[in-house]
Amino acid sequence: MASSKDNVTSKQKNKGEEISSIWDNVTAADLKEIEQFSEGYIEFLTIAKTERKVLDYVRMEAGGNSLHDLSKPYPNRRISGFLQHHKKLLGLFRQGKASVEEGFNIIVAHGDSPRLDLKPKCIYEDGTLGLLKTNLYGGLKKFQWLARPVALWGFSALKDGRTIDYTFGERSQDPVLTITDILPHMDRKIQREKRLTEAFPAEKLNVLAASRPLPGKANDDKKRIKGALVKILYDKWGIREEDLISSEIEIVPAGRARQVGLDGSFIGGYGQDDRLSVYTGAKAFFSQSRPAKPLLFIIFDREEIGSYGTTGANSNFIERLASAAFEASGLEPKWHSVLKSLSLSRAISADVECGRDPTFKEVIDELNSARLSYGPCLTRYTGGTAKYGASEAAAEYMAKVRNIFDSSGIRWQSSLIGKQEEGGGGTVALTLAEYGINIVDCGAPVLSMHSPFEISSKADVWMTFKAYAAFFEKA
Ligand code: MN
Ligand code: MN
Repeated sequence: MASSKDNVTSKQKNKGEEISSIWDNVTAADLKEIEQFSEGYIEFLTIAKTERKVLDYVRMEAGGNSLHDLSKPYPNRRISGFLQHHKKLLGLFRQGKASVEEGFNIIVAHGDSPRLDLKPKCIYEDGTLGLLKTNLYGGLKKFQWLARPVALWGFSALKDGRTIDYTFGERSQDPVLTITDILPHMDRKIQREKRLTEAFPAEKLNVLAASRPLPGKANDDKKRIKGALVKILYDKWGIREEDLISSEIEIVPAGRARQVGLDGSFIGGYGQDDRLSVYTGAKAFFSQSRPAKPLLFIIFDREEIGSYGTTGANSNFIERLASAAFEASGLEPKWHSVLKSLSLSRAISADVECGRDPTFKEVIDELNSARLSYGPCLTRYTGGTAKYGASEAAAEYMAKVRNIFDSSGIRWQSSLIGKQEEGGGGTVALTLAEYGINIVDCGAPVLSMHSPFEISSKADVWMTFKAYAAFFEKA
């Protein structure tokens, strides 16, 4: 892959971050590369709308890159491989020239995105309509999910051990689903005069699913519309109503990710937080076939709800992955050796940043804002006001990462999420920092974050890939 180094003058290079828009500094060859990279990314966003699908995609690439499944027997030599948990948390390991005992170059991202899940008991009818009850997952703005086409992505585990994977509402010939809203003529008391946080109760986010009852007598109380819904589930996918208790069914925005803008310079789509980092991180990982240091790339789950659970960053997965990497290197994963190796490691928490939106300037600290098309953001600390809940990268580590980027011709910027006392947010950086790992947040700026249609810049997506590759290569 060509480097953009040649396009950066030495004067600009010395200055490092925040020079000018990437678009001002690309060659015709770069532009072609940007378009190609965007195409692949748009396709990925379109086919990987759940954490399981994200992992399917990356695992497939891992197989193509001859990574062994480290949970299974493998040849008795130094190998690279992957480890997963519940097919919702995945870690990739690549051997480096240096020993794993000296630490890893690590990039971590998350594969989950804010969404609506169907509740275990979700099918009901009311009046003439059949509906599905949802449960919020992650910090979404509820009103953004009303009156728009949504799709259903399901995974059911049956008692006999079979699993069933299904999608509804994505093919153009399929019907879609939707969540209804009240007309403005009648919303005065229940929405307009209320505070936003109270105007859209979570329990009102019901998916409109059916209206045609099973055959029967009018006015009988046999719940014939619910019956019809139950029958559709069985006819389409072989799922009985009780199987919904062991199902993960996600309601996500329907339709393809798209190019956006009259100039087509943006990418719009659901789940760019944090699949932008997953895609660019995975591509960067696979671009390094013989790195100097051993590499880890981890896609955590459950980041959007606080990283709890067996597939979240708060689990002991990183210890198990590092131990597996020791074994795959012919070394005994002694507890203190693994912990020492982690403490010597260098990491990036790859997560998207709040982009500067001129329409919402009032929450942005101009000096530290993340500008679209200025490259990935190095965010020294996240958290809330007064740095609560923040893992702050040490000055020396910031200097190291700056140097890596500048010496690789990476266009990047230093940024913070926004003004103090306006809110805040955190990432998995905190969890890794607990092992003494040097870690900094670094990801592309996006607009409309956590919405059904998040916006990124094609130039940033491409440069983020290059930044992650430079980190894997040189950290
Ligand atoms: Mn995120
Ligand atoms: Mn998020």
